[in-house]
Amino acid sequence: MDLMYASTRDANVKVTASQAILKGLSDDGGLFVPERIPALDVSLRELAGMSYQETAYAVMKLFFTDFTKEELQGCIRAAYDAKFDTPKIAPLVSADGAYYLELFHGATIAFKDMALSILPHLLTTSAKKNHVKNEIVILTATSGDTGKAALAGFADVPGTKIIVFYPKHGVSPIQEKQMVTQKGDNTHVVGIHGNFDQAQTGVKQMFADKELEQELAGHGYQFSSANSINIGRLVPQIVYYVYAYAGLLAKGEIQDGESINVTVPTGNFGNILAAYYAKNMGLPIAKLICASNENKVLYDFFKTGAYDKNREFMLTSSPSMDILISSNLERLIYRITGNDAQKNAAFMKRLSENGVYEITGDMKERLSDFYGNYASEQETAETIKGLYEKTGYVLDTHTAVAASVYRKYREQTKDETKTVIASTASPFKFTRSVMNAIDPSYDAKGDFELADELSRIAKVAVPQAIEEIRSAKVLHQTECEVGQMPEVVKSFLGM
Ligand SMILES: *Cc1c(COP(=O)(O)O)cnc(C)c1O
Repeated sequence: MDLMYASTRDANVKVTASQAILKGLSDDGGLFVPERIPALDVSLRELAGMSYQETAYAVMKLFFTDFTKEELQGCIRAAYDAKFDTPKIAPLVSADGAYYLELFHGATIAFKDMALSILPHLLTTSAKKNHVKNEIVILTATSGDTGKAALAGFADVPGTKIIVFYPKHGVSPIQEKQMVTQKGDNTHVVGIHGNFDQAQTGVKQMFADKELEQELAGHGYQFSSANSINIGRLVPQIVYYVYAYAGLLAKGEIQDGESINVTVPTGNFGNILAAYYAKNMGLPIAKLICASNENKVLYDFFKTGAYDKNREFMLTSSPSMDILISSNLERLIYRITGNDAQKNAAFMKRLSENGVYEITGDMKERLSDFYGNYASEQETAETIKGLYEKTGYVLDTHTAVAASVYRKYREQTKDETKTVIASTASPFKFTRSVMNAIDPSYDAKGDFELADELSRIAKVAVPQAIEEIRSAKVLHQTECEVGQMPEVVKSFLGM
């Protein structure tokens, strides 16, 4: 029996994994969720002896049950190869009493590569399995990192086009340069005059637009999503938590079965939800520590049970977390309603109409696995400087938010459980903020000069992803207003 996927907003929807991957989002606006979370069917000991690719198969086969072994292993092989600069794929680094799980060794040096290097393969395999004849158009809203990772993943993949929308003034200079220099005839990049939430809402509206869907079909196209709302992105992210645990066990850092904590710098709630799914599969995880920047809507939610996006949107030095509508939280809300699509849909309706909803006391009790806190800009900068001066290890701004929050957690709770911190980007992706945190006088230097200086002080080579854009030509210059997004899409598709 295949594991089926339901919509978080309509109990009647049931699709296979490959159908859920193809569609991205359910027609009712809900997210696809597995009907149950499968349990790991190999022991932790066995996992401790596995490569990243073997771990990926052991986890993903339990979720993507309508893929054959050959299909799934083919996707895994094509994804986790020499695009990563280490055969470990996701190495663990121990520094100052925590384990940093480095998820930035892929092509675009942010953790989005972990899932977006496999998603194109999962998607094209799903299209074949379901006899899809249309060309697939990937629409993506990005706060900076998803965009480049999706572009790199889908560039020149036959049968696909990709269109990325980013907030023109809301990403780092390196992030923007990475996107607008993207090669590939099937790639399009657009800077919108608005913030990430507006980009994401615009994309979701296009997905829900039935007229647009028919018009597209008339031209031989259909939409899909590379955002973390796609289950084909979420499941590959479970893998590295299992792999990290197994790695600690293999090194003798923990006992078989010993619980660990996980700290995740959070924006759209995809990465931490993957850790929660890993826990629900039976991985011994105690606390899930959810770290926010000054856009601390999740911190307030865990504290009060009220999700309230009606607040000022802050631009911070961790732009990939500058988000007020954390889309993947819907999957958690659905779960703590007891998988009640109707109840969940009512909360989401309140969110879109009033910008706020409040969960019940019963639901709040089911959130005891989570701890939320946030770090200010100053705390984030101090964490980067402090850890560098103490150990020589340099964190990016997002990971520094997580490290700050982890320190607060430890001070408040005195919990000394061993903790893995998801390290979501290379410091070379946010060089200016990182270097300014270490010494404000660096601000006078140019971006690439700073990269060379970072390489010198951190004793880490400048990553290939940065070398590539030093002299690369700008190939994408489209900008638009939020309301023009559908027209821009149509013009790219010649409609
Ligand atoms: C996307 C991103 C995050 C946030 O991850 P979510 O899954 O959206 O919560 C954190 N850090 C970096 C560097 C990112 O690119």
